[in-house]
Amino acid sequence: MNGYTGLMVFAEQREGSIHPVSYELLGKGRELADSLGVPLSGVLLGSQIKEEAGELIYYGADKVFWYDHPVFNDFNLLNYKLNLVKLVKEVKPEIFLLGATHWGRSLGSRVAAALGTGLTADCTSLAIDKDGSLVQIRPAFSGNVLAHIKTRTRPQMATVRYKIMQSLRRDVGRKGEIIRKEAELTPSLLTIVHKEKSGEVNVAEADVIVSGGMGLKKAEDFCLLADLAKLLGGVVGSSRPPVDSGWIAREHQVGFSGNTVKPRIYIACGISGSPQHLAGMRESEVIIAINSDPSAPIFRVADYGIVGDLYHVVPKLIDRIKIRRSGS
Ligand SMILES: Cc1cc2nc3c(=O)[nH]c(=O)nc-3n(C[C@H](O)[C@H](O)[C@H](O)COP(=O)(O)OP(=O)(O)OC[C@H]3O[C@@H](n4cnc5c(N)ncnc54)[C@H](O)[C@@H]3O)c2cc1C
Repeated sequence: MNGYTGLMVFAEQREGSIHPVSYELLGKGRELADSLGVPLSGVLLGSQIKEEAGELIYYGADKVFWYDHPVFNDFNLLNYKLNLVKLVKEVKPEIFLLGATHWGRSLGSRVAAALGTGLTADCTSLAIDKDGSLVQIRPAFSGNVLAHIKTRTRPQMATVRYKIMQSLRRDVGRKGEIIRKEAELTPSLLTIVHKEKSGEVNVAEADVIVSGGMGLKKAEDFCLLADLAKLLGGVVGSSRPPVDSGWIAREHQVGFSGNTVKPRIYIACGISGSPQHLAGMRESEVIIAINSDPSAPIFRVADYGIVGDLYHVVPKLIDRIKIRRSGS
């Protein structure tokens, strides 16, 4: 359509490291590009990260458009947007994908608006239709239906959830082209004077998550779950109601309107298993549910279910683990 061809992926980097969602997008992008018979490109904006541009080739890109400027060390939204819009107008990819991270969501909507095209946010699946157009699949109506969305305008843009797509195996034998682009800069309205690391938990990356829901009686009881999580080298997650009640910060929320997680072990304590919660954790490798109600829907997805009061079960689990570790 109007000379648009190829697939482009925005490769997000934080402090010089590529965010893994970018590799996942390249994995899916490779599959889609091959089925369309078109090239797959990545676009990387950063400072002194040419090696990372090469990594995008190893993970499936045919070409990488690489911008090297210190302004891209931080998420300078105006300059990211300016250069992406210019590149998309020049290269004219028929499909442009971004991760549904904070960066991707902020940038995707602005780039789509500037290009006058549509954007489907938070996709969980992508496919190519018989007519060659992109089918963008995402949960709708609180996750009860999967909407299949197509875009009339070009490029077809979508943000895709982290930990949903599979990245390819890194192949250092893959060959591709790295094309250096000159950054165009606009004065930023934002000056970063100081950066402070927050005590931010990264539930999306965690291997073990111990999550609490409204089976907890009060905010302080998350400490019990934190003790178990610490013993297992994991982090604390939450269903949405405790977050809405201000018991725990939003970054801990798992589910449809929170984080999508895929840990090795997910322990759901006092969580009923609503479709909205399951939407964020059902891909976990092993799900352990602790719930006093034997008919709670969480047991339908659980690999191991413990019917019982979490205030009895969790301390017992903690004791057992400690005893095992001490070897007695
Ligand atoms: C648009 C939209 C988006 C949403 N997004 C999300 C989301 O991202 N994540 C999310 O989680 N929810 C989300 N929700 C809310 C969702 O619909 C449910 O309300 C929520 O998941 C229920 O949380 P819960 O399981 O903690 O609470 P409840 O459904 O109240 O379940 C509490 C469970 O605890 C058990 N229990 C009680 N006492 C004990 C005890 N002592 N020991 C053991 N078990 C006990 C009960 O048997 C019950 O099963 C969303 C809703 C909407 C409409």
